[in-house]
Amino acid sequence: MTNKINKRKISLRELPSGEELSLKVIEVDGSFEGPHCYIQASVHGAEHQGNAVIYKLLEYLETNPIIGKITLLPIANPLAMNTKIGTYTFGRFNSNTGDNWNRLYFDFSKSSTEVYDFAKVHIDEDDKNICKEYKKLLKELILNKKAEHTAYGPQYNGLLNLTLQELATDSDYVLDLHTGPIAARYLYVPEYLEKRSEDLYFPHRLIIPNEFGGAMDEATFMPWINLQNEFKKLGRDFKIPFESYTVELGSEERISLIEAESDLLHILNYLHLRGMIKNAPKKVKKSNQLKCKLKDYKTYYAPKGALYDYQVSPGAHFKKGDVLAVGINFENLYRDEPVKFEVKALADGVLINHYPSSSVQSGAELIQAMENVYL
Ligand code: ZN
Repeated sequence: MTNKINKRKISLRELPSGEELSLKVIEVDGSFEGPHCYIQASVHGAEHQGNAVIYKLLEYLETNPIIGKITLLPIANPLAMNTKIGTYTFGRFNSNTGDNWNRLYFDFSKSSTEVYDFAKVHIDEDDKNICKEYKKLLKELILNKKAEHTAYGPQYNGLLNLTLQELATDSDYVLDLHTGPIAARYLYVPEYLEKRSEDLYFPHRLIIPNEFGGAMDEATFMPWINLQNEFKKLGRDFKIPFESYTVELGSEERISLIEAESDLLHILNYLHLRGMIKNAPKKVKKSNQLKCKLKDYKTYYAPKGALYDYQVSPGAHFKKGDVLAVGINFENLYRDEPVKFEVKALADGVLINHYPSSSVQSGAELIQAMENVYL
């Protein structure tokens, strides 16, 4: 028994020269019915590692049968990946509007009377049927939103995001693959999934509120939070079956096929634990899985414009008072101050990422670290 692999393209945008950009959608169907997992990479165009993982996963899926369906979307934002300045990819923001690509999704079910009506009608039904029927409603709502968004033409801020949301609508699990600047591997996990996220063996996780802030993970789990809230008002305790995570796979502007192998093991193991793959991958390693709340994920802003030499690697632990970075600023010669200065840790922590360049303006996000870490 093998999987059926279907590939198609969705036209996304026409460039002034007439060429078209499109999304590459790869749908893998197993021989048995089961959950649907949706995986996309590179919504931020400089964050490449997820594509290496998708490549490895596709290679795996060519010979290993699954239960259910997996949708793969490599290079989910072709415009962002193709926007180069010198050797760098200007991938995080829409170069036309300045908006962060991962803040342009829609919470299309918020205050929707349809969700309230749905909860009322389905209050006594079993979870499985609710899940099936609710996905149909979500599809309808998103198509309405898309029609409204494009009524006067294909307004590009938001159209990509709506298209990605539409592709993910009938999924049970969403993995949005990103990277940090120079970074460790970590997950963004909504509060309601804190326990279940432990099935993804990545080493660090930031626990975020069950709220909408414009990102893909939030855009896909909020309709379920909204449904849960409506059920609660009606006296039913509804357990959300849906899961969505942002998976940060190291540093931007690079891929590593070797690292993709261990990234893939974590994902295959998760799919196994969700009943989509029969056998657990043999070599998967469970790490410590350090957690912190989003409020304890601290950003050190550069105290001075300078050239910085980073002293602590992503993933490393440090103590209060340790030197995190050393800067040099030649203007200091003219202020009778030492050219070299230190940025010290204000509390114990784990370094998650740092600025990708040594040349940094004052006020930039120099270092991000987890504090008040727990297991
Ligand atoms: Zn990103």
